[in-house]
Amino acid sequence: MDFTLDAEQLALKSEAEEFAAAAVAKYGRFNDSWLCSFSRECSQDLAARGWIGMVWPKEFGGGGRSPVDRLIVSEALITAGVPIGATWFADRQMGPGLFTFGTPEQCERYLPEILAGDVTWCIGMSEPNSGSDLASLSTSAVRDGDEWVINGQKIWTSFAHESDYCYLICRTESIPGKPHLGISEIIVPMDTPGIEVRPIRDMVDARHFNEVWFDNVRVPVGNLVGVEGKAFSQTMKQLEHERGGIDRLVSNRALYLHVLELADTSDPIVRQEIAELEIGFTVGRLLVYRSVLGQTPAGFAAGTKCVCTEYEQRVADFAARILGPEAMLHSDWSTEIAYAPAYTIMGGTSDVMRNILGDRVLGLPR
Ligand SMILES: Cc1cc2nc3c(=O)[nH]c(=O)nc-3n(C[C@H](O)[C@H](O)[C@H](O)COP(=O)(O)OP(=O)(O)OC[C@H]3O[C@@H](n4cnc5c(N)ncnc54)[C@H](O)[C@@H]3O)c2cc1C
Repeated sequence: MDFTLDAEQLALKSEAEEFAAAAVAKYGRFNDSWLCSFSRECSQDLAARGWIGMVWPKEFGGGGRSPVDRLIVSEALITAGVPIGATWFADRQMGPGLFTFGTPEQCERYLPEILAGDVTWCIGMSEPNSGSDLASLSTSAVRDGDEWVINGQKIWTSFAHESDYCYLICRTESIPGKPHLGISEIIVPMDTPGIEVRPIRDMVDARHFNEVWFDNVRVPVGNLVGVEGKAFSQTMKQLEHERGGIDRLVSNRALYLHVLELADTSDPIVRQEIAELEIGFTVGRLLVYRSVLGQTPAGFAAGTKCVCTEYEQRVADFAARILGPEAMLHSDWSTEIAYAPAYTIMGGTSDVMRNILGDRVLGLPR
């Protein structure tokens, strides 16, 4: 596989970098911009370029473009800190989830507004007592005539306070001894009566997190996505989209580029650290290329996420050393350093990623 960009891809890269510089001038620059930013207007600008749903099939209104094109654009946007958070989840996961598992009516109803950059989706997966072990979730949806009645609580739901829809993972049946069965995915409009959203401010003042309560929330039965009670594998497939992308490698690229300018490159230890980080970035990038091109075995996105997010944490450690005492003063950069532990938690922890790699990819004994 030749990883050199061709002339068209180089032109796309320049276009994306130019767009990114203009968007940052207009909307501001954000660290971890795919998660810690929100601008509908910016998403609509992306949509106007065809940069939402770039890789979705044309029959669903997408661009039908190569995953490498999307990687090029995403890398430029996230590195520059463009606020793409309002539509990132929907572009990366919800859209592909809907056109893979949803009904034609659902595709017709929900995909165009995602592609237009007009709506925000949140992912209602984690619960107070159910994170890594997703199959232990207890938020329930019980069928009552033509409706699902939903009760329970989600937590760490990024963007719930800004979202139009929640892609809810819930339990529609409890089968003793078979926790992976009975799980379903349901679309829940966030303005449905009975939903309470309580924002959580994190340690670095990021404000994407929420707790979400569902108290007898009623949605039509037609909001079920895919097969009732068999959504665990659907969710795992979606997590493959979530784990193997370039967003897992370049969240704090701007921090690295910033401290690189300050680093004393005559110091042999600093030089060695830079060399190691450059190797880490190159390896991570190759894994992301292979992942988005579908050249990795099923489940390997877990390995890609592990390598890439642990690299991001090494960047943060390096930045703290280069900044020295300044890293302890409140600033854009020190905030970014303090945020780094989140990289290996969100989307599944590194421990769990290693388990998946061992079990599913390498077939190691449990
Ligand atoms: C920035 C950020 C954004 C997030 N956004 C969302 C969101 O939008 N929607 C959503 O639903 N969730 C979201 N989450 C939640 C995230 O998915 C969970 O935090 C994650 O899955 C881990 O679950 P937990 O926090 O309950 O930790 P736990 O599962 O309780 O894990 C605690 C510790 O035990 C370890 N551990 C657990 N099980 C095993 C095992 N089998 N083997 C070895 N070690 C294990 C873990 O590695 C971890 O160190 C977000 C999290 C972060 C940090």
